[in-house]
Amino acid sequence: MINVSKISVKRSTSLRDALETLNRAGTGILLLNTDDGRFERTVTDGDLRRLILEGCQLDESIALLKAIDSVVIQTPYTRREALALMNKHSINHLPVLDDRLHVSQVLERREIDGQILLSTPHMGDAEREFVEEAFRTNWIAPLGPNVDAFERELAEKVGCKYAAALSSGTAAIHLALRMLDVGPGDLVFCSTLTFAASANPIMYQGAQPVFIDSNADSWNMSPAALKHALQWAKKEGRLPKAVIVVSLYGQSADMDPLLALCDEYGVPLIEDAAESLGAKYKGRASGTFGSMGIYSFNGNKIITTSGGGMLVSDDASFIEKARFLATQARDPAPHYQHSQIGYNYRMSNILAGVGRGQLQVLEERVHARRTVFSRYRELLSDIAALEWMPEPEWSYATHWLTACTINPQFTKTTSEELIQRLSAEMIEARPLWKPMHLQPVFASAPYFSDGEMSVSDDLFNRGVCLPSGSNMTDESLERVVATIRKIL
Ligand SMILES: *Cc1c(COP(=O)(O)O)cnc(C)c1O
Repeated sequence: MINVSKISVKRSTSLRDALETLNRAGTGILLLNTDDGRFERTVTDGDLRRLILEGCQLDESIALLKAIDSVVIQTPYTRREALALMNKHSINHLPVLDDRLHVSQVLERREIDGQILLSTPHMGDAEREFVEEAFRTNWIAPLGPNVDAFERELAEKVGCKYAAALSSGTAAIHLALRMLDVGPGDLVFCSTLTFAASANPIMYQGAQPVFIDSNADSWNMSPAALKHALQWAKKEGRLPKAVIVVSLYGQSADMDPLLALCDEYGVPLIEDAAESLGAKYKGRASGTFGSMGIYSFNGNKIITTSGGGMLVSDDASFIEKARFLATQARDPAPHYQHSQIGYNYRMSNILAGVGRGQLQVLEERVHARRTVFSRYRELLSDIAALEWMPEPEWSYATHWLTACTINPQFTKTTSEELIQRLSAEMIEARPLWKPMHLQPVFASAPYFSDGEMSVSDDLFNRGVCLPSGSNMTDESLERVVATIRKIL
C-alpha cells in the first residue's frame, strides 16, 4: 500500500524536493495538498518537466502548477467503481478522499483489479504430459489410449466396474435415460434443487419430469417427498422409468432410504454426481449407488477436462451400449449401417489426457475445497446471520462450492443484496440453484415438497455460494471474509 505522506507535497515545496520525492516514491505521481492538508491535484513527472521548460529553477517552489481537476474517488466507493474510473481515464493510481477532502489512501490498479471467481480450473503437473503424448502419437480422435485409461482409472478410483468417457455430464445423463428406455409419455423423477442439465435430458427423450424437493438435513432429495411422489405415481398407474438423484455442491444425498424406496417400487435410480466426484456416503464413493452414475468434468467442476463427462455402472451391458450409442450407433458391419439413432457423445483422446492428470490430484483438490469451506466457517463463526450447508455424519462432502444461507432473523441484508455487494467488490458469489419446479420451462411439471413448506424454495431464497476454488489463495479468502463482515 502506498504511504500517502511520502508522496505529499505543497505549493511551497521546491522543485528539487518535488523531483526527489517523486524519484523516491516510484509511483509516478505526487499529491499536491493545501497547507491544511486538503487535496488539490495530482502532479506527474510531465507536470514537473513542463515547469522546468517554463523556466522554473530547482530551488524555486512549484507554486506555478496550474489548478486542475484530478481524477479522485470519495469514500464510500466500491472496488468496481474505482476500477471503472481508472479504466475511463487510463490511470493506474487513484487518490481516495475522505469527507474532509484529505487523501486517505491511494489505490493502485494492480492491487484492486483482481476479481475473485467462484470456481476456476486448477491444473496439476501431469495433464500436459498426457496431452503431449496424444500429440506425439497423433491420437487426436474421440477414442484412443487416454480415453481407455481415463475410464479404467476413474472406475478404479470410485470403485465401480465400468465407465464410459463422454463429451459432457449432460450427455451421460441422456445416455443413462436411453439405457433405461425412457421415451415419450414416460415419467422421470428428478431432484428439483439442481442445475437444468439434470432435467433437460428427460425432455430430450420426450418424457415428463416430476420434481422432488430437498430435505433440510442434506439439501438433497427428501426421502419423504420421494415416497409421496411414488405413492401418487402408483395410484395413477404410471410409475416412473427412473429417479435422478442429484448430489449437490459435492455432498451425497442420503442414499439408503432413497434406494430402499426405489427398490420397493422397482424403479432404477440414476445418480447425478456431476458435483460430487470425490465425495463419500458412508465411506463409499458418491456416484456408485444407483444403476448408473454420472460425473461432469466441466470447467468449473472439482476436476475438469475443460468439458466432459463419465457414465459409470457395475452393469457391463449399460456401458457397452452407451459407448455404442455415443459413437453414432454404428452397427458392426463393413459398410456404414445403423439400426438405431446414435449420438456424437464420446470424449476426445486429448481431453481424456487432461482428465487423467486431473484424476491424479483429485484427493488434493477435495482436501483444498474442504479447507476453503472450514476456513470460511471458522473465520465467520461469530456472524449469526450465516448458516452453513449441513454435513450429516454419513457424509464426506467435497464442498465443491461453499454454500450457506442467510438467516433473516439476524440481518436485513438479503442473499440477493449480499451477492450484489460482493460483486461490486469484484467477488463472484452466486445464488443456490433455482429449483426446477420454479423454472418457466418446467412450469407444468408436477412437484412434491418435503412437507407443507418447500425446502428448496426456502434454500433458493436465502442461499449463497461463495468463491471456493481449490486454487484460491489465503489472501483472496480473507478478502472475501473481510468484505462479508463489512456487509453483514
Ligand atoms: C454441471 C452439472 C451437470 C452437467 O454437466 P456438464 O458436463 O456441464 O454437461 C449436470 N448436473 C449437475 C448437478 C451439474 O452441476
